[in-house]
Amino acid sequence: MAQPRILILGAPGAGKGTQSANIVEEFDVEHVTTGDALRANKDMDISDMDTEYDTPREYMDQGELVPDEVVNAIVDEALTQADGFVLDGYPRNLEQAEELEEMTDLDVVLMLDVGEEELVHRLTGRRLDPETGEIYHVEYNPPEDEEVEERLVQRDDDDEETVRERLRVYHENTEPVVEYYEEEGTLERVDGEQTPDEVWEDVKATIEDAA
Ligand code: ADP
Ligand code: ADP
Repeated sequence: MAQPRILILGAPGAGKGTQSANIVEEFDVEHVTTGDALRANKDMDISDMDTEYDTPREYMDQGELVPDEVVNAIVDEALTQADGFVLDGYPRNLEQAEELEEMTDLDVVLMLDVGEEELVHRLTGRRLDPETGEIYHVEYNPPEDEEVEERLVQRDDDDEETVRERLRVYHENTEPVVEYYEEEGTLERVDGEQTPDEVWEDVKATIEDAA
């Protein structure tokens, strides 16, 4: 396989960002993530797109999905420029999955399985290093360096109320996407409740097997 084209699925907090960083390092592919792309463009003017709100911010702060038209354009542009990639955070509904099928073929579709209460615990304890983009957790994965610890930030939407709403949106809109790939016969499930290193072992082996 030249550069693998990988899709990583999983609920908010399942560990997609954490494992995507490993995938990028090991397989030398681009990390294409709609969440990061949207956070970097939260106040972009989308009023010409006939949407309910004028910027992505209103949707994201409430834990709702940003309109497909906005997100599809971001992914299409990023995939055109990438050789191999790991796509994280997209597709989040069936319309996006159909759109993706028009854009590219996939070599591997991974699904990280994690139970509901563990997801809430992971998301509310998530912290990010604004300088390196590294993902930490107050309990599971705290930084060793005190200087790093002091500069960690929490995402606006990682408070418990918004987390619960994001999980509701996931069940309603994104679980059908998981079923879509399951029915297609391409979905590879990984037990995402193991330690990050154990999850990575399974993820790596699954990608290598698909090669
Ligand atoms: P996602 O991108 O799917 O939302 P992240 O990779 O950001 O998920 O992980 C969510 C939180 O859970 C982070 O705080 C991360 O450090 C932590 N985490 C990731 N993988 C594991 C794991 N296997 N076990 C425990 N905590 C994890
Ligand atoms: P998580 O860590 O919960 O998986 P992301 O960083 O992927 O979260 O997404 C954060 C927010 O960005 C979502 O709650 C949603 O508002 C918006 N977003 C990200 N990807 C998409 C998408 N594919 N479609 C619509 N909205 C999206």
